[in-house]
Amino acid sequence: MAETMADGITAAPGRAPARLDWAYAPAPEATDHVKVRGRYGLLVDGKWVEAASGSRFETINPATEQVLASVAEAGEEDVDAAVKAARTAWAKVWSKTSGVERAKYLYRIARILQERAREFAVLETMNGGKPIKESRDVDVPLAAAHFFYHAGWADKLDYAFPGRRPRPLGVAAQVIPWNFPLLMAAWKLAPALAAGNTVVLKPAETTPLTALLLGEVLQQAELPPGVVNIVTGAGQTGAALVAHPGVDKVAFTGSTEVGKAIQRTLAGSGRRLTLELGGKAANIVLDDAPIDQAVEGIINGIYFNQGHVCCAGSRLLVQESVAEPLVAKLKRRMATLRVGDPLDKNTDVGAINSRAQLDRIEELVASGEADGAEVYQPPCELPDRGFWFRPTVFTGVAQSYRIAQEEIFGPVLSVLTFRTPDEAVQKANNTPYGLSAGVWTDKGSRILELASRLRAGVVWANTFNRFDPASPFGGYRESGFGREGGRHGLAAYLDLS
Ligand code: NDP
Repeated sequence: MAETMADGITAAPGRAPARLDWAYAPAPEATDHVKVRGRYGLLVDGKWVEAASGSRFETINPATEQVLASVAEAGEEDVDAAVKAARTAWAKVWSKTSGVERAKYLYRIARILQERAREFAVLETMNGGKPIKESRDVDVPLAAAHFFYHAGWADKLDYAFPGRRPRPLGVAAQVIPWNFPLLMAAWKLAPALAAGNTVVLKPAETTPLTALLLGEVLQQAELPPGVVNIVTGAGQTGAALVAHPGVDKVAFTGSTEVGKAIQRTLAGSGRRLTLELGGKAANIVLDDAPIDQAVEGIINGIYFNQGHVCCAGSRLLVQESVAEPLVAKLKRRMATLRVGDPLDKNTDVGAINSRAQLDRIEELVASGEADGAEVYQPPCELPDRGFWFRPTVFTGVAQSYRIAQEEIFGPVLSVLTFRTPDEAVQKANNTPYGLSAGVWTDKGSRILELASRLRAGVVWANTFNRFDPASPFGGYRESGFGREGGRHGLAAYLDLS
């Protein structure tokens, strides 16, 4: 008869118990329902067209380095055609379409996104490298939620801004980054369309495929031609778009450097601008915080989407008296993170989005080591091909180190300590950025006190990285200006004068 040992392992009498293998078996998501077309064109005036120059670029899967598709590269001539199409569609169709009718289109887009959710999630993961559980559970549902939310406002703008006379601005140029390709497209398109504007959208060079699939969804929803135009390409395409004199409003999400360049381009033009730029968020843990919960929040704050998150909690500020046990628990938890194939449903940390981004992360991590910070990376095997970086934590970090000041945009956490809440606030505010922050404590009064003194557009309390279309998101200082989401985000696409 088998004997049951204290830990539940069974063994035949007189035999050593067999060791149980707790490793996860591979659980890859199927890809056969996604049809990646070999070639993609530009969406201009409701039609898929080649770039005037015939120029193209390849987009890859960063987890395998395999080429997924060839994509048209828009030049100035194409941008001009797209802006003109958007202007005509605005003047002739969209500005005359009632709020009730605009809402119907937005609802339709939201429903189709839900119907095709699996296709979008898999394509997002293939093109961007993020874990399938994130694209499936966060990116795609939130993208649909943004269309639903703004559909609700489209016919109620007078109620959203009582006593004002909300009018659309005209043609909006929207330039988006590679970290949340579909979600950023939804964040930008939904309020613009709800408010009655037409759009030219420029997705990031490394991740154009879900924005292009969204273009197909817009056609499926029978959105009138020219209301949304999509021009793919690199930085020059974005620069040509934001500089185009036919554009009434520019909305940009990306690096602070490019944001500043865009601001210079638009200065004096009278055109409207919103910028959502970089961040170096402080995630502050006070001595009375629930430590295990805080550890989960820290992990989510920095390793979600490989740390490619503008509001990532990339600086952990922990009260000195709890620093040692917290860092020990954090390291133990980091060792359980599964790094690897983004299409595997058990993967926590996927591929770095591009070779260029990996180089940037490696350079900043090397600077942290050279400055004298202590680095920890849990042992984990990385795939042979693709772009990978182990979850990393630095302790012994001084405020002057680059890893405490600059946006790394990778799975790298810098830990600093503080003695009093005052010191925490001072340290938290001591970067050029001001996008987000987190506070972990048992006491509501401490949350309110700290939140009111932190120079950050969003402050999460006893949680991190929570998003909702009804909640405005945006920054201070070098993190940009303007808000996305909620009535504030809607106002950015309206003339309320
Ligand atoms: P960019 O700011 O260059 O990219 C954002 C978007 O702007 C992309 O669509 C890009 O096109 C486009 N773009 C680039 N140059 C111009 C220009 N002169 N005028 C108009 N549009 C332009 O970010 P990177 O991809 O170069 O990343 C660099 C760093 O920026 C990262 O390491 C990270 O620190 C930060 N970053 C922050 C983001 C955030 O959400 N806060 C998002 C992305 C990056 P293309 O992709 O084709 O070059």
